[in-house]
Amino acid sequence: MLPTRGYATKGPTSTLEPFSFERRDPGPHDVLIEILYCGICHSDIHQARDEWGGSIYPMVPGHEIVGRVTRVGSQVKRFKTGELAAVGCFVDSCRVCASCKAGLEQYCEVHLVLTYNGTEKDEKTPTYGGYSSQIVVDENYTLKISPKLPLANIAPLLCAGITTYSPLRHFNVGPGQRVGIVGLGGLGHMAVKLAASMGAEVTVFSTSKTKEQDARRLGAHDFVVSLDPKNLDALANRFDFILDAVSAPHDVNAYLNLLRRDGVMAIVGVPAKPLQVQAFSLLLKRRTLAGSIIGGIRETQEMLDYCAANNITSDVEVIPIQQVEAAWERTIKGDVRYRFVIDMQTL
Ligand code: NAP
Ligand code: ZN
Ligand code: ZN
Repeated sequence: MLPTRGYATKGPTSTLEPFSFERRDPGPHDVLIEILYCGICHSDIHQARDEWGGSIYPMVPGHEIVGRVTRVGSQVKRFKTGELAAVGCFVDSCRVCASCKAGLEQYCEVHLVLTYNGTEKDEKTPTYGGYSSQIVVDENYTLKISPKLPLANIAPLLCAGITTYSPLRHFNVGPGQRVGIVGLGGLGHMAVKLAASMGAEVTVFSTSKTKEQDARRLGAHDFVVSLDPKNLDALANRFDFILDAVSAPHDVNAYLNLLRRDGVMAIVGVPAKPLQVQAFSLLLKRRTLAGSIIGGIRETQEMLDYCAANNITSDVEVIPIQQVEAAWERTIKGDVRYRFVIDMQTL
């Protein structure tokens, strides 16, 4: 076993503290990765504080992981020692169900092995995430990243990037379309960059007046302060597609009403409490309310390659791990420009 250092929380009201644990020795198909940077996703906070229920403690959060391969198993073909590698929100899946076979492992019908707050395939051994010094992952669940882009700015692509790329692709966002992005946080700012790069006309809906300049710099054509309902009413029936990336309870009907006939709104944000949908918001214009979760390995690699080709990365604030609690508090307040990333050398 490999002694490993990390930060963990012991319960929903505890703070993150230094924590020592063991990773498995790399098997024939595994790579051992020294973690260099790990992004802070709002899901880390939801899960550490058990806002979705069923959290497993102690919890080492973190699923936006980039680092360097330090050892490879005897059968590993795609990675060599010294190469960069990345890990996202899951580290294994059943590999045989219809979703896994379709390359949509995130919808695995048997057992998706989450990077943290989950169990290995034995359904007993807890998994520990990227707020740690190293991780052991099967090469088939490990991603390749370009050495051309700044490493800290790549980390958030592993969750925020793929979570927004996947629905934009699935719902065929492209030129000539009006796209709304609700919530300019970690996910939202990636959604703006990606949708704009795909040729869509992008409008940001935000509760933070101060983010307008940033939104336009990120590629938005329009910026709407969502706190005043009048601002939304003026845009009724306008949008082809809306992506809702808000982490807290809010009125989704206000956004559904902005969709044109047959328009689609996809939810990626996961507030702790259920969202309330009015039937009229959907049926009056035959609108669709959809959801989407992260992306499969194949599509995650496609997204990373797309971002490398188009020079797209995340806007980040790099912090030492000792400031993680303060970064979480700022994230909850919507005060992050636009993703905190932990420099893991500070561990
Ligand atoms: P984040 O960086 O904290 O961004 C969330 C944004 O939501 C904030 O920046 C803020 O934007 C807006 N917001 C916050 N509180 C609000 C409120 N009370 N009312 C209205 N708007 C509010 O979070 P994130 O990391 O992007 O994650 C967003 C959500 O997606 C979280 O719930 C997370 O768990 C979930 N998530 C889902 C997936 C998936 O696969 N579906 C993957 C990753 C994360 P403004 O300041 O612009 O209003
Ligand atoms: Zn995430
Ligand atoms: Zn499966």
